[in-house]
This record gives sequence, structure tokens and C-alpha cells, in this order.
Amino acid sequence: MHNRFRPFWGFRTFLRLAIAHPRQTVFVCFAVVFAITLVLAGRQYWLGRERQVNDRQHHLHLQALVIDAAFHGAKQRLRFLRDSAEHILADVQNDSVSATIDEALKNALQARQMPTWGLQGPLANAPIRALGDQPLASIPGFSRDARTLKQDLMLSRVLSQLLPAQYQTSPDLARAAFISTTGVVVAYPPIADDKLEPVLNEFSATWLAQARAGQVADFDVAFLTIEARHLATGPYLMLISPVMSTGAVRGAIVFGFPQERLQSYLIASSLPEERHALLDARGTLIASNEETFIKQDGNWLTTLPAQLPGLTLPGLFQTKVGALHDADDYVLYRELPEAGLMLVDHIPADTIRWRVISQFSTAFVCIWISLGLLLVMTLFIVDLLLTRQMALNAQLRELGLVDTLTQLANRRRLQMDFKGMVRRFGGEHPIALLMLDIDKFKNINDNWGHSAGDEVLKHLATLCRALVRPQDLVARYGGEEFCFVLPDTTSVKAVEIAEKLRLGIEQSVCLPDAATMLTSAPSREIWLTVSIGVAEFNADGAANLEELIAKADRRLYAAKQNGRNRVVADDALTM
Ligand code: GH3
Ligand code: MG
Ligand code: MG
Repeated sequence: MHNRFRPFWGFRTFLRLAIAHPRQTVFVCFAVVFAITLVLAGRQYWLGRERQVNDRQHHLHLQALVIDAAFHGAKQRLRFLRDSAEHILADVQNDSVSATIDEALKNALQARQMPTWGLQGPLANAPIRALGDQPLASIPGFSRDARTLKQDLMLSRVLSQLLPAQYQTSPDLARAAFISTTGVVVAYPPIADDKLEPVLNEFSATWLAQARAGQVADFDVAFLTIEARHLATGPYLMLISPVMSTGAVRGAIVFGFPQERLQSYLIASSLPEERHALLDARGTLIASNEETFIKQDGNWLTTLPAQLPGLTLPGLFQTKVGALHDADDYVLYRELPEAGLMLVDHIPADTIRWRVISQFSTAFVCIWISLGLLLVMTLFIVDLLLTRQMALNAQLRELGLVDTLTQLANRRRLQMDFKGMVRRFGGEHPIALLMLDIDKFKNINDNWGHSAGDEVLKHLATLCRALVRPQDLVARYGGEEFCFVLPDTTSVKAVEIAEKLRLGIEQSVCLPDAATMLTSAPSREIWLTVSIGVAEFNADGAANLEELIAKADRRLYAAKQNGRNRVVADDALTM
């Protein structure tokens, strides 16, 4: 049973405390609400951060999908061309085929000493052009003998028909080409003859150098970013697939993309404060969302300000997708499985923080401001109610203890204060009591009227209050009876005071407002006398207030009996 009421008791204790300390309770309640909103804000921040990272990851996923799909198509076409080229090469190596030589082929081979020469193909196809024997000899990686050159020309004839078709079906493609190690170039759109030598030089220095070093043996399709100054204004993104024959590199199918297309896509689809970078398997930067692309070799990840544990190229390619972060940086990454590339997003942690804060702060700032305003308002109202309540209480207390006509203490106040005085003085110090009654007050009422009588009572009250000490208590006991409690006063001293009162009253005149008087009033002034009975607490055998009053009342009665306008302090005259 007892246990069941425990929570209720807790609530009651709270209520008691709240009533005893309303201001503090309001403060504590608001502090609790404030703390709860703080905890909620913290939770919201944490969730918001997770959501932000997920959003950014999702965004990266979409970007990766778009790029991957584009490269996937290009790679497929490149593989198709490469496979076709390898089949054709295998075919033309067949002795019966290689023995055939037509007029065009013969003419072309005869012209191989010219600085540039070509093989005439059908019209509207990609032209087949080649560098002369002499200039070619100076380009590392290129060499030719009659047999391989003839085979490459036969292959080029087929490719010159295939390349324009591939070019036309790929909107992103800037150029499709075949470059053989014998210096034959089939390109669509065509490459001008005067650019042939620089293009081959570039090809030699970049991709072919790797091919010769045996690094391309593993390559299916490789990416290469080069400054193809001879073909385009900006960096050029090459998708290259080696054409192999009997284990040797015979050339490459090359798709050229303007790097700026990829760059523009990344710029358009990324937020400026984030750093999106597309990397190949060696960490080479292929494109980023920066306004200007600077081609750089080496692992781009090492240029990042954030050196997070796990942020290594093999690590990223192994896990394929994820997010790494420390206090300052976030790095999100996603593999482009078809392109074999990695899209990396570097976001400063501050950016994430501000994005989260800006999302939910408005709501919480509003809550906190409203809470602050509510707190001030509530405190103001509590204060107002409290002061009003206290004033009202004081008023009620006064109303219960004060006589409304004379503003003197009433009987209840007399009883209360007398008890207090006895507690303070009783025993050691005497306490005297005077009982005062106006003589023939009935006559005053009859002659001057009741209103004038009331004025007389007020006049007398003021007079009495003025004639005694501040610590003396003056109370209106009955209609026109006044009671004085004089602490630290013997009956002898009390008689002196009573005499002073009696004389003072006798000698003072009351001048009530004429409006309060009967028209038949005998005069404007009202003279009055009083009779007073005196008794002393304990000394007169009175042990409490009632007995003391009874004693003084008897002596007052004696004073009345003996002619009025006098003070009686003993029982000699009482009957
Ligand atoms: P005495 O005391 O000298 O014997 O004569 P008295 O005329 O004063 O006699 P008593 O004490 O019996 O009369 C009291 C009168 O006081 C009666 C009543 O009308 C009047 N009185 C009592 N209370 C009030 C009051 O509040 N206002 C007015 N104007 N008169 C009051
Ligand atoms: Mg009386
Ligand atoms: Mg009287």
C-alpha cells in the first residue's frame, strides 16, 4: 500500500516545493526544458551529419554512374575495334592473304620515302596516312619493315571504314584513331599531315614508352591524360587499347575525349566547396571539379590535405565504396567498376557541420528564443501574482485584525498581541490594562446624531493613540469602549497614564463636520469625558486576559457608579 503512493508523494513534495519557491521552480523547469532541447539538438545534429554524409555519398554514386555508363560504352566500342583489329591482323598474317597486293597498296608502299604518304581508301572514309621512313626512324618505339608495314596498311584499310562509324555513334568522342608501331595513322576526323610527326612523337613519349617497358601487357583499356597541343587546346583524355599480335604491340586503338567535357560535368554536378576527383588505377587525376585542370602525374591522393588512415589507393579500390573522416576532413569515394576509375569527394568537416547546422538551426533558435521569452514572461507573471497575493494576504490579515471605523486594533488583535506581550514581559515585568468608556455617549448620539457619534469615536481613537507610548496597544473593545494594554507598567503608573488620558480627553474638543450633525445639534463642538478602570496582570489576581478585562471592567463600572469622568484602580468602590 505504502509503496503504491510513493510517486504521488514525490509529486506532492514537488508541489510543496513549487509553492514555497515559485521563482526557483520556474527557473528549474525552464532549465530542464532547455537541457532537453539541447540534448535533442545534439541528437538532431548527429542524425543530420549522418544524413548529410549519406546524401553526399548518394550524390557521388549518381555522378559515378553517369561517368561510368559513358566510359563503359566507349570501352565496349574500343574493345570491339581492338578485337576486330587483332582478328584482321591474324588474318593478314596468313601467307595467302599477305601475298595479295593490289595497285593502291603497291603505290602507297612505293611512296614510303616521302615525308608523309598515304593509302587511298574509299571516299568519305577515314584517310590512311603514314610518316616517311626517314622522319619515323627518329621517333623512339616506331620501326617498320616491309612485311609488317604491308600488314598494317591492310588492317588500316578495314579500320578506315570502322572508325568513322564508331565516331558518329559516340557523341562525347572527339576523335577515333588507330596508330600502328609502323607509323601508319588512321584517324577520324582526320589529322593533318603536318601534325602527324608531333602526334606520333607524343604517342611515343607517353603511352608507347610504357608499352615498350612492358607495362601495357596487362592493359585492357587504359586512360591517359595528355596535353595534345597539336590536336586540341586543352588536355585530352585518351582511352587506349593496345592491338597485340603474337605477343608484340602492333599499335593501339585510341579514342580521344576533350578532358574539359568531363571537367564541365563534374563542375556542374558538384558543390564548389567540395573537391570531386576522378582517378585512375594509379591515382592519376583524370578530371576534377576545379575550374582549371592541371595535368599531374603521380598519386593525386597524396596531394590531399587530409591524411586519413585507410586513405590509400589500394585501400580505396579494395573497399570500392566508403567514407573516411577525422575532425577536419571527410573523404567519400566510389569505384566506377566499368571504367576502372575511382571517384573521390573531399569535403572539409566544417562544410558538413555548417550544412547540418543551417538546416536545423532555424527551428532550434526559434525554440530557444521562445523559451527565453516565455521564461521572462512567466517570471514576470509569477512575480506579479506573488506580490499581488502577498498584498492581498496582508490586506485580509489587516481586515481581520483592525477596526474599520477607528483603525485601532480589534478584539482579535487585542487577544493576539496580549499573548505576545505576556510571552515577552510576563512574569518579570508588569502589564497594566485600562478599560475606557465614554460617559453618556448615548446622549451624544441622541443630540448630535450617530454620524457625529462616529466622528467622536474616531476623534477619541486618534487622541488615545497620541496620548500613549508606541509600544502600548490601543484596541476598540466594544461600541464606545476602548482597551489599553500597557507593557512594563505597574498599576500605579497605569493610573497616572489613565489620568493623563482622562484629562486630555476632557480638555480636548471634537469638531465634527457640520454635515454629519443633526440640524438640531446643540453646538458645533462636542465635549466629552470618559471613565477608566485600571487593573494589573498577575498583581490583581488576574491570570489571563479575560480575567484582567473583567477586573478592569468592574472598576470602570465603579467609576461610572461614582460619578463618571474618573479613574478607578482598586476594588474599594466596587460592589
Ligand atoms: P454611560 O456609559 O456613561 O453609562 O452611558 P452611555 O450612554 O455611554 O451608556 P452605554 O454605554 O450603555 O451606551 C452606549 C451607546 O453607544 C449606545 C449606542 O447607541 C452607542 N454606540 C455604540 N457603538 C456605537 C457606534 O459605533 N457609533 C455610534 N455613533 N454610537 C455607538
Ligand atoms: Mg458603554
Ligand atoms: Mg458609555
